[in-house]
This record gives sequence, C-alpha cells and structure tokens, in this order.
Amino acid sequence: MNELIMIKYGELTTKKANRKIFINILTQNVEKTLKDEDVEIKKDQVRMFIKCHDANKIAIKLQKIFGIHSIVIAYKVNNNINDVLNKALEIMDKTKHTFKVITKRADKNYPIHSMDYSRKLGGLILKNSNFKVDVHNPDITLTVEIRSEGTFIYIDEIKGAGGYPVGVQGKGLLMLSGGIDSPVAGYLTIKRGVNVECMYFESPPHTSIEAKNKVLKLASIINEYSGKVKVHVVPFTEIQEAIFKNCPDIYMITIMRRMMYRIAALYAEKIGAKILINGESIGQVASQTLDSMLCINNVTNMPVIRPVACFDKLEIIDIAKKINTYDTSILPYEDCCTIFVPKHPVIKPELEKCLEYEKRFDYQTLIEKAIDNIETITNFNENFDDLL
Ligand code: ATP
Ligand code: MG
Repeated sequence: MNELIMIKYGELTTKKANRKIFINILTQNVEKTLKDEDVEIKKDQVRMFIKCHDANKIAIKLQKIFGIHSIVIAYKVNNNINDVLNKALEIMDKTKHTFKVITKRADKNYPIHSMDYSRKLGGLILKNSNFKVDVHNPDITLTVEIRSEGTFIYIDEIKGAGGYPVGVQGKGLLMLSGGIDSPVAGYLTIKRGVNVECMYFESPPHTSIEAKNKVLKLASIINEYSGKVKVHVVPFTEIQEAIFKNCPDIYMITIMRRMMYRIAALYAEKIGAKILINGESIGQVASQTLDSMLCINNVTNMPVIRPVACFDKLEIIDIAKKINTYDTSILPYEDCCTIFVPKHPVIKPELEKCLEYEKRFDYQTLIEKAIDNIETITNFNENFDDLL
C-alpha cells in the first residue's frame, strides 16, 4: 500500500461539541463503503488518512460520502525540505508552466513559519526547474502540510459531497414515489446527515410490478449516498378503493394523502424515525397548494420536511440528473396517485369536509391492516434494470 488519500472534513468542523461523534460516524461510513478494499484508515480531529493501492479508484468511491469536504491524493515524506522538494518536482506536471506554494503548519513547533517556508520551497523549485511563480492564477497549486509525523504534499483537491455524515441526525421516513421529486427530496435529506428509510404505497392490481421495481431502483440509487436505505412497501389497495367508493371525486386525493400521512407517521414512530420527508413542492399540483398542505398535514404533529418545497421543477430536474435518478423517474409506470385522479381535484379543501367523508368508512382498521402487512426490502444488490 503505497498510495495515500487525505480527507478534509466538511461542515462538521464548525460543530465543536459534536465533532467527535461526527468524525466517528463518518469513519464508520467510510469503512463501510470501502469494506471490500485493502485499505488502512487512520483519523484525527482534522483529517482522515487512507493508505491504499489505487488512490484514484478509492477517491471515486469517497465522492459519494456525505461529511467529506474534499479529497486529496497526497504524498508523505519526512520533514526535510530537500525531500519535500524532490517529491514536489516529481509530482508537478511538466506540461504546466506556473505554480504557487501554500504551506500549512499543523506542527507549530516546526521552526520555519508558513510564509517563509512557502518562499523557501518556492525558491528551491525555481532553481531546480523551469516553472515560474504566479501567485494569482497558477497552473499548479502545491500545498504542503507540515505535521509532526511528516510532511504531506498534494496538488489537486477533489470536491467531496459536503453535508453531514449519514446517521448523525437520526432517522427520517421518506415517502418515495416513482416520480422525479421524492428521490431528490431523499437525497437532500440524506445530505443533512439523516438516515433515510423509504415508504412506498402500492395498489396492486391497479399499479404494476414495474412501478414497484422502479421505486426500488430509485431507492438503490439514493442508497449509494447512504448505505442505510430500506423500503417499506405498504399495501394501499383496500384504502384507495374505500376512498373511491365513499368520498366525492374532488376530495379523493386530499383524503388519500391524509391516509398516507397517517400511515407514514404511525410507522415512523414504530421504526424510530423523527420526521417525515416528501417531494411536495408548493403549488405543483392541487394537493400541494398551501390550503391542501394545511388540510393534509393536519393528521400528524410529526415534522414534515419538504426539501424541494421552494424549487422550480427545472431546478429539481437538474438535481435529479446530477444524482442519476432522472432517467429512472421518467419511466412511464403509473403511480397509485395517478390511477384514481379526479378531473378537478379540490385546491382549497376544507378540514370539516375531510372529517365528514372519512367517517363514512372504518379507515382505522384498514390502516392497521395495511401497517401489519408492510413488506420491508433491504437488499438492493438485485439489478432492477432487468426488471424494468
Ligand atoms: P414526485 O413528487 O416524486 O415526482 P409526483 O410528483 O408524481 O412524484 P405527487 O403526486 O406530487 O408525486 O406526490 C407528492 C409527494 O407525495 C411525492 O413526492 C412523494 O413524496 C409522496 N407520494 C406520492 N405518491 C406516493 C406513493 N405511491 N408512495 C409513497 N409516496 C408517495
Ligand atoms: Mg411532485
């Protein structure tokens, strides 16, 4: 193992009290991601170091882990400036022309100050190569970190995924449909350190196995950012049929969504999730007007996080493309929301009316039954592409 990666932590450095917990969880997440690789991981309060055989390959895997600010492929030499010079000359790309040195002195006992060190090393590089100095717009920025255990040199900094390590914020339950918005909502919440589990409402035979596989495929994609995703599949047919039979057309979606929220909130409590998450966006459809949200949200006190609430559809699509869920989301399989859609759903629903219509059938029993029959899927090794 002769290659070395140095990880700079993300936002967690600002959270002094929780720092240790954050770093430990990040380390566990890194270990889990690299469990099949031959690596040696060490950490301190500022950096994580990974010794490995193939730094480029490992760096790609690390780019999906939240809580990492940046990744550098670093070279370690001893603190002798001539050894630093030799390594610098070895790694500086000779097709480039200008450079600048930045020195960070983690070891404050080191006798030369950072600025002086940069000047001294820069001078040695000038003397021993054809490179020129450009402090404003250099082709190469050579960073030197002097630490008690040695000097680390690196050139390119690869941007990490940012955010918080998954798990530091506890658990949330994402209502995951096969659409564009909810996987993006899931991704954004995972990025804040939330361990997201998913709930999918299916209504066979009105919805197909392809619709379910599409959701599982989406879950497997967001799982690449988490490693902790599960999908809880709720049998929703009986409830939807009862709504269809008992409630006026224009209220069907409102009441259906109140049922979804009820089930999600009850189940969230059961699995220790503290928030619900969904892909609602203000004004996008009738059930997402402010009046609708007020009426639907009324069934639970649990916080409902809507990460894309204020995004335009095009902004959501941009993220969906970036995280690779878009192509799956636009596959044409029907969702349970789309099969019983009335022509003119109410956009200003009234709570009193919802309560009145809901009295027409025993939804409590149906909800209990649905929850009892939830199927939980945790294995995403399957290739869902074959099934779609
Ligand atoms: P998406 O919002 O995911 O693009 P959509 O726009 O078709 O899909 P909406 O009808 O806008 O879905 O529903 C709003 C939100 O409700 C979804 O983002 C999702 O969080 C949740 N939701 C809708 N249908 C389902 C379902 N069948 N299972 C789980 N959650 C659902
Ligand atoms: Mg939507």
